[in-house]
Amino acid sequence: SGARVRRARSKRLPQYLERGIDVKFSDVAGLGNIRLELEEIVKFFTLGEVYRRRGVRIPGGILLCGPPGVGKTLLAKAVAGEAGVNFFSISASQFVEIYVGVGASRVRALYQEAKENAPSVVFIDELDAVGRERGLIKGSGGQERDATLNQLLVCLDGFEGRGDVITIAATNRPDILDPALVRPGRFDRKIYIPKPSLIGRVEILKVHARKKPMAEDVDYMAVASMTDGMVGAELANIIEVAAINMMRDGRPEITTDDLLQAAQIEERGMLDKKDRSLDMWNQLALNEAAMAIVAMNFPDLKNIEFVTIAPRAGRELGYVRVKMDHMKFTEGMLTRQSLLDHITVQVAPRAADELWYGESQLSTIWAETADNARSAARSFVLGGLSEKYYGLSNFWVADRINEIDLEALNILNMCYDRAKEILQRNRRLMDAVVDQLVQKKSLTKQEFFNLVDENGNLERMPPNI
Ligand code: ADP
Repeated sequence: SGARVRRARSKRLPQYLERGIDVKFSDVAGLGNIRLELEEIVKFFTLGEVYRRRGVRIPGGILLCGPPGVGKTLLAKAVAGEAGVNFFSISASQFVEIYVGVGASRVRALYQEAKENAPSVVFIDELDAVGRERGLIKGSGGQERDATLNQLLVCLDGFEGRGDVITIAATNRPDILDPALVRPGRFDRKIYIPKPSLIGRVEILKVHARKKPMAEDVDYMAVASMTDGMVGAELANIIEVAAINMMRDGRPEITTDDLLQAAQIEERGMLDKKDRSLDMWNQLALNEAAMAIVAMNFPDLKNIEFVTIAPRAGRELGYVRVKMDHMKFTEGMLTRQSLLDHITVQVAPRAADELWYGESQLSTIWAETADNARSAARSFVLGGLSEKYYGLSNFWVADRINEIDLEALNILNMCYDRAKEILQRNRRLMDAVVDQLVQKKSLTKQEFFNLVDENGNLERMPPNI
């Protein structure tokens, strides 16, 4: 049971109060243990007196750190919702005004209201807008920010340990905050909220699906595995777009297909923000298509989940990725032949580049996969798997480094020729996949294998080495 909400005593209507917050922790998904930490904050409200009597220090502020759209605001609201207290919010970018004193007086007003309507949560979004380290900004804008920041520090100190007004702030840049803000008693508790994992994405999709007419057999896993790098806000949007899709077709239920289509639209939305030339998209698509098409020829690598050239989290240039069945890799059950297959896939982008653009115009996009291939080939030889050093452990061959490198090169060349052969046999399929990738940026398993059925040339398996 939450603490009771006291009626506002002042006549003035609170300006920063958000009414009717009924968010609960069950509305926030995919956060694992992070939820437990926030449940504890709810206890500061409900059990504040007990905590104080036992000498447990109640923090003045909690800092939620993480990229936009992961659910920081939602979590802060859920704390207020679960505790049954008032929720006051402001974005710190609104503090920053050119008129000296305005920011500071807003901070004062915000906390005044929160105090008069306590117990309450004060939520400050984009804290870094005002909390940037002092002295970093020169000129009068900097002075204004300093005044606002000082006021905020005063307010935070005023509520420390009381437990009836708790500040939760959000930022994507905890690293640039003024050290004074994160001193004990202020924002001394930092909680990092990462982008959701695969399972996290499944859970978030399900939370948002609760209020929608979903088909019984919806494959959330398929949608989650296509949305690597997306955050809660984007996943929520996918459900909305899928619902519109369903309505437009006059169907009663949202299907997996609706969701997959919506995911592609959401991704393209992300992509439109990325400024890439058509040449660049073509290059990336060629790399990706080459890996997928070579991989599908091999027994251990043929389970292609999706093919994408979408830029993903942490990869500015975008990248080439084929999801494969990694079970055997992780269990160390690889055969000699499947290792060679793996190397062949890794050199496929380079081979495609040569075949499609010619030696003189090679790009360097494939550098990363070529690196993988090189080190895989080396371990292949060191592990005593090459014909020349068959069965020799690296203990015995370690002092023959030059020979090892030569033999690794030999392996690489064999794999390279094999990749080229497969690609040459599948020129039509390559062109079709590249074309679709450039258009759609991602292909589902189904879409990819449809293209294979229409254009593929699999009548002959590639030769083993
Ligand atoms: P942030 O404050 O981190 O930028 P928000 O909390 O504003 O993100 O998220 C925006 C919306 O996205 C939420 O209102 C919710 O609909 C959805 N959302 C984001 N993260 C989650 C999550 N972990 N679980 C469920 N929904 C989420």
